[in-house]
Amino acid sequence: MNAPTALNRDLRADFPGLVTVEGKPWHYLDTAATAQKPRAVIEAMTRALGEDYATVHRGVYSRSADMTMAYEAARRRVAALIGGKEDELVFTRGATEAINLVAKTWGRANLKAGDRILLSQLEHHSNIVPWQMLAQEVGADIDVVPLTDDHQIDLDAAEAMLTEQHKIVALAHVSNVLGSVLDAKRAADMAHKVGAKLLLDGCQAVAHMPVDVAALTCDFYVFSAHKLYGPTGIGALWARADILADMPAWEGGGAMIDRVTFEGTTYGSGVQRFEAGTPAITEAITFAAAVDYVSEVGLGAMHEAEAKLVERLRRELTAMNDVTVYGPANSAGIVSFTIDDIHPHDLGTILDEANVAIRAGHHCAQPLMDYLGVPATARASFGLYSTQEDVTALLDGIARTRKIFGKGI
Ligand code: PMP
Repeated sequence: MNAPTALNRDLRADFPGLVTVEGKPWHYLDTAATAQKPRAVIEAMTRALGEDYATVHRGVYSRSADMTMAYEAARRRVAALIGGKEDELVFTRGATEAINLVAKTWGRANLKAGDRILLSQLEHHSNIVPWQMLAQEVGADIDVVPLTDDHQIDLDAAEAMLTEQHKIVALAHVSNVLGSVLDAKRAADMAHKVGAKLLLDGCQAVAHMPVDVAALTCDFYVFSAHKLYGPTGIGALWARADILADMPAWEGGGAMIDRVTFEGTTYGSGVQRFEAGTPAITEAITFAAAVDYVSEVGLGAMHEAEAKLVERLRRELTAMNDVTVYGPANSAGIVSFTIDDIHPHDLGTILDEANVAIRAGHHCAQPLMDYLGVPATARASFGLYSTQEDVTALLDGIARTRKIFGKGI
């Protein structure tokens, strides 16, 4: 197998999940849903749950003190991945919870009736629904930025739409369906010009390209560990320190307090104010192990390797006259397409027989499907372990599906 050889080694060998139960290569093309885990991450989780395990922020014994240091070091390493600092990074259950946190704390404190929220047509449901809930609660309105002909967020249109009533602009840094990459600095400049804040949904960006929140000048950045080769159940909210300092607490409980009496409670300061209860200790430590792994491989190298796979797959699919390919040519590791008269679910099922795993459906982006005029697409998404053999297996599987459906090439 023509394996990716960053660091001069076969990266696929790092991922025990990439073989079938029969020991055959598994052509996993659903990394945008969730990434497979390298051994370094699995071992970090085992160690954190085993010989290193203890609670954090409470114990007076040395194991707990060590675990507290490891948990806070994890915060530092995860923040550093996106050019942030540890006092700006809150661990959440994932990107979804991070956006809900911003909407329910900063949003409730800063939006009122008549204010406006700017989203785009390609957002994941998790960057739509929390804002709809907020809008209903405070009486705000939502505007939706359309897409360009090649399915990027149309920032010229956004610029024309923005007014001083807009308090927040929330956009995907990279689309989970189309791979479209946002010009995030331009979006930040436009938002700031009218006094709005910019939240970037970085779920699909952090796994594909280097990100620097300071250079982007965004106000909030959210992402999930499991799409970055880390564990499920944990993600991050990065927020500018001055914004975070003014954000009201949200969930109440242990660890987020300063002093509790029945007469009243005062809250702790800093990021822990947003982490009530025993945190996801082992997940946080393992999240940092995943960050170390991708940093070692190099996000720039990953991006280049994935771009070659995208280029070939798009080229071969575009050459088929019954295939529609969505999204821009420079998509970040994601290719969505439909084949006339073959439902994506049928394609996905037939591909599965050949050990090719793609995603078929609306990808938690129903407003985008409505815009594209399709109920669903087939989506192939790449990771650092993806190869040209995976692309070949997908193309062979498409040819086989065509035959089964009695379609010529
Ligand atoms: N935003 C985007 C762009 C995503 O791809 C996803 C996951 N598919 C999410 C948000 C939500 O992430 P999670 O389910 O990990 O909270």
